[in-house]
Amino acid sequence: MEEERVDALLLSHGADLPWLTGYRAMPLERLTLFVLPVTGDAQLVVPGLEAPRVAGADEIFALVPWSDAEDPVELVGSLLSSMAAPSAAPLRLAVSDRAWATTVLALQRRLPGARWVEASTVTGPIRAVKDAGEVAALRLAAAAADRVASVLQSGQIPLVGRTEGEVSGHLAGLLVAEGHSQVNFAIVGSGPNAASPHHDPGTRVIGPGETVVCDFGGTLSLDGDIGYCSDITRTVMTGSPTAEIAEAYEVLEAAQRAGVLSARAGVAAEEVDRVTRAIIEEAGLGKLFVHRTGHGIGIEEHEDPYLVTGNHELLQPGHAFSVEPGIYRGGQFGMRLEDIVVIGTDGMPEPLNGADHALVVVDG
Ligand code: ZN
Ligand code: ZN
Ligand code: ZN
Repeated sequence: MEEERVDALLLSHGADLPWLTGYRAMPLERLTLFVLPVTGDAQLVVPGLEAPRVAGADEIFALVPWSDAEDPVELVGSLLSSMAAPSAAPLRLAVSDRAWATTVLALQRRLPGARWVEASTVTGPIRAVKDAGEVAALRLAAAAADRVASVLQSGQIPLVGRTEGEVSGHLAGLLVAEGHSQVNFAIVGSGPNAASPHHDPGTRVIGPGETVVCDFGGTLSLDGDIGYCSDITRTVMTGSPTAEIAEAYEVLEAAQRAGVLSARAGVAAEEVDRVTRAIIEEAGLGKLFVHRTGHGIGIEEHEDPYLVTGNHELLQPGHAFSVEPGIYRGGQFGMRLEDIVVIGTDGMPEPLNGADHALVVVDG
């Protein structure tokens, strides 16, 4: 916070609050705000009726419950005004990236002189570097997702004749059975729908001879901790692939592998994207790779660092992210291959997922 010249961190909804305090606020309209000044004690301003759910107060921070008859913006406003430096320099406040606009706008009206920045300017780089316990939690979540992927690839999940929605529900159930406390997504895109990377699984009945992109993940918590995310994509075929699909998949697999190998400490995040993209472009399929190569992962399924053109940030030990190139032929087929990778203490990439990379044919 000193480096970023931030006087106070203001955490409302979003993952920063549970990451720092272990308390996950319900996304209520009522104001929840953790006020952490650069010097001085932290306070959690919380709706009175939520106070019993907060653990860790007293030891780490003071609890400031407010009743429905009070104005919490006034409460926070006076808290922050009293912090204003005698130098009369404007307060610089870092507020949760995911705070409600209503919260931020009301606070801005109450503190018209303050300067505002995103909390992620402070929390993003710290959250992006996982410690050993966090890596262990990510590893457990990845192993659970791997087991679901292996069930899919073994053909034990019927595909042909079922709707994408049914298969999505089946995958979600398996994620929970394998230890996830929450399913974050279970994308199933079949045939032409596979060409839409974030396809919403629906009523389309999966047919023979189709690519089926399955991208699923959840949050796995142990002993009531805040939980870390899994995220894996495997593409399977219902019947033998055409030559075009088989060739494109070879390119995809090579691109994914090269991307993982390139992800070492000291390499810019965008370099991993350049490496995967170069291989797909070389095969003449560059226009069909319509998204970035990957995203960081932790207590959120998408967080820093992003593997995207323009991100010059250097990878470092503890960074955890997906490497997930895709090839999408609109109206026909799609394919994506995704593993979570962590940079080890030796600076080398360690894939956390181990499920088969091949374009597995299931359901003949
Ligand atoms: Zn995605
Ligand atoms: Zn995914
Ligand atoms: Zn992903």
